This record gives sequence, C-alpha cells and structure tokens, in this order.
Amino acid sequence: MPGGLRAEILLVGGVAVLGLVLGLLAGHVWAGLSLGLGLVVMRLLWVVTRLARWLERPETPPSRYAGGWLADLGQRLRRARAAQRRRERRWLRLIREYRRAADALPDAIVALDADNRILGFNPPSRQQLGLRQRDIGLPIDHLIRQPAFLDYLHGEDWARDVEVPASDDPGRILNMHIFPYGQGRRLLVVRDVTHLQRLQAMRQDFVANVSHELRTPLTVLAGYIETLLDTEELAPDLARILAQMHQQSERMRRIVEDLLLLSRLETTSPSEDQFEPVNVPAMLSTIADVAEQLSASEHHHIVQNIDPTLSMRGMPRELDSLFSNLVFNAVKYTPANGMISIRWFADAHGLVFEVEDTGIGIAPEHIPRLTERFYRVDVGRSRARGGTGLGLAIVKHVLLRHGGRLEIESTLGKGSLFRCLFPANLAMRTAPVIKPSSFFHELDTPCREHVP
Ligand code: ADP
Repeated sequence: MPGGLRAEILLVGGVAVLGLVLGLLAGHVWAGLSLGLGLVVMRLLWVVTRLARWLERPETPPSRYAGGWLADLGQRLRRARAAQRRRERRWLRLIREYRRAADALPDAIVALDADNRILGFNPPSRQQLGLRQRDIGLPIDHLIRQPAFLDYLHGEDWARDVEVPASDDPGRILNMHIFPYGQGRRLLVVRDVTHLQRLQAMRQDFVANVSHELRTPLTVLAGYIETLLDTEELAPDLARILAQMHQQSERMRRIVEDLLLLSRLETTSPSEDQFEPVNVPAMLSTIADVAEQLSASEHHHIVQNIDPTLSMRGMPRELDSLFSNLVFNAVKYTPANGMISIRWFADAHGLVFEVEDTGIGIAPEHIPRLTERFYRVDVGRSRARGGTGLGLAIVKHVLLRHGGRLEIESTLGKGSLFRCLFPANLAMRTAPVIKPSSFFHELDTPCREHVP
C-alpha cells in the first residue's frame, strides 16, 4: 500500500477514535462517535472535491492539505496520462505516414463501407475518378456508372479485376480492383492502364503484321523445296538437306499460322451471331482419327468417352483448334503404348471436355505458366515433337471467348489431365452421330434443341 494512502487511513481512523474518546470523557459516547465520523466524512468529501478539481486542471499541483495519498494518485494519473499522450502521438505519426504513402501512390484508392459508401479517398482519386470532398458518404455506384464496373462491384467476384473506359474520357482505360478488408470494408484501387493497353495493341499489331508478311515468302520457299524434293535422281546428300529444309519450313509455317490465329483471338471479340451449332462428337471423332495417325508406330491406346447427343453453340474452327491442340499434345507427350482418354459430357455445372494421358506429366511449378505463349517445359522435346509453344495459349483464348475455363492436373512421370469447362447455356442436343467420313460434312448436321 502506498505510504500516502496509509497516512490518510491513519488520519481518518485517528479522528474517528479521537471523537470516540472525547465522547467517553464527556459521557456522551454516541455524540462523540458521531462527531468523529462526521469529521471523517467531511475530510473525505473535501479530498474528493480537491481530486475532482485537480483532475479538471491537472497542470496545477494538488493541494498539499489533501494529504500525500492524493499527491501519489496524482503522480500515477499524470504518468498514465503522459504515456497515453505518447501512444496517441505515435499512432498519429503512423496514420500520417500511411496517409502520406497512400497520397504518394499514382493509383486512386477509395475506401468503401459494406454498403459501398465512400469513407475516404486519396488525392489521385480526384483526377482519376473525379471524386470531390462532398462525395464522402455517397454510394460509389452513384458516381461510377459504367455497366462493367457495376456488374463487377455487385458480382462480388473480386479475385479478378475489371477494365472500363473513364467516364469523362472514353479514350482513357481504367483498371479497377476491389480488395475486401476489415468487417465488410473494401478498398477500390484504380489504375490508369491506357498506356499499357496501347503498348499491348502495338505488340499485337506488330506480331500480326510480321506473321502476315512472313506467310507469303514462306509459302513460296516451301513450294520450291517441295518441287526440288520431287526431282528424280537427287544426290543423297542434297536430298537429306532438302528434307531438313522442308521440315524447318513446315515448322515455321505452323508457327506463323498459330501466331496469326492467336492475334486474331486476342484482338477481336466474338459476337453472338458468330456462334453456331457445332457437332462436337463428330469433330472429336475426326480429331481422334488424326491422333491415331500421329501416334502411328507409338501405338497409343486412345479411348473415347463421348456423349454422342451432346453438341454446343460456338465457333467451329476455334473449337476444332482447342480440341486438337489438347489431344495432339497428349500424343506428343505420352511415351509409346501409353493411354489417352478423350471425354465429352455435361454435368450439373456445364459442358466438360477432358483429355487425360499417362504421359510424362508436368512438375507443379510449370503448371501456372503453361498457357503463356512460347512457354515450354522442355524446349528440345517440344521442338522435336513439332510443337510451336503456342498451343495452350490458343486453348486459353478460345476458352475465354466461349466463357469457359481451363483446369490442369498433372503428376510428373505419371500423366496429365486437361479439363475444359464451358457454360451450360452453350449446350445443344443433336441426333447421335454415325462415325463420319469427314468432319466438315458432319458439321452440317443440324443441332436440335437446347438443354434447359
Ligand atoms: P507445344 O507446342 O510446345 O506443345 P503447348 O502450348 O501446346 O506448346 O504446350 C506448352 C508446354 O506444355 C509444352 O511444351 C509441354 O512442355 C507442356 N505440355 C502440354 N501438354 C502436355 C501434356 N499432355 N503432357 C505433358 N506436358 C505437356
């Protein structure tokens, strides 16, 4: 117990006892005791009043008549108050630091509450989004009205971002991303990506132009090489050289064709009227036949598990490219006598196309990058098998254009599973297909009813 407090207890106790003793001496015990207690109460009231006054104005020292314990208490309160002030100053400094960092960012940052009302924003938000101080408290969807943003905001699928033209200048493209934090709070981060988009468009144009320009000279060269190869009585050395030239010109032709296809997939957006009925079972049957020929002496066991009545709406040439790339990859990356399963069916979530193989498999660190253009796990093996490194990039883009997505599961040395998921509303039912002699003939088969 602090010394000041002990002294105070002794003082009030002493006064009470003194009152009692005086009462005894005067023969009025109760009157003496009451006087003592009355004095004690008055003393305490006086001390409490002093304490209250001192708490209101802590800069003035507490009355010395209030006793040492009040000074003790004062010291403690003063220390606690000073520590509290230091903590507050530290927090303020930290908050200011964070604010300065947020202000230094070129991106607009807007804090929103659970009802999408603006809680605050940094200075770039004024320029990027035209926000003003008076907008604080307003719902953000009253101020940013672009449909793509509204769908994104209310869709709550914030793992992805969205790109929308700025409302004051449609030539400016803004990338918007929402990050949830705290309890129901969100941060809207907006970045001007006009420059990046322009660079990307330039790159796409460049690749498309170069590929286009290369196409004609390559065709001419390949034609001459083929003519020379057909010449009778070629010297064996020359025949070998010409055969290699032919092989390489074929490879270049495939790369150019894939690049052209990829740039078309990237630069054009599909419209509803480009979607037509596609007889998928017929298409897959033809692709499986070609895969058998590719497999040739390697004797892969190709198993088809295809719903013969299930077709879909889509872009036939693009889908043909998607299915072929996955099936031919399975042939390329599965050692002789391996098993390749091709599956096509509908489930509760939509349409599913799967290619599973018992091939070389892919290590997990490569899987996220496989759909990048020219990304190959083993460049030598890919080239040796006639790969261009563009197949899975094409697959990804075709799927995106059909509202689908790709899933890859693989175990190194055991095999891989490539799964394409299409939305259920693309499904159609056709009459079962009799094995076609030609895929284009079968494409004409009418598709009848929509699967509900
Ligand atoms: P490529 O023309 O090289 O096959 P792709 O884009 O089609 O290019 O595939 C990219 C890479 O993914 C391939 O080089 C290969 O390393 C890997 N890959 C694709 N499919 C398979 C598969 N079925 N099994 C093992 N690896 C595969």
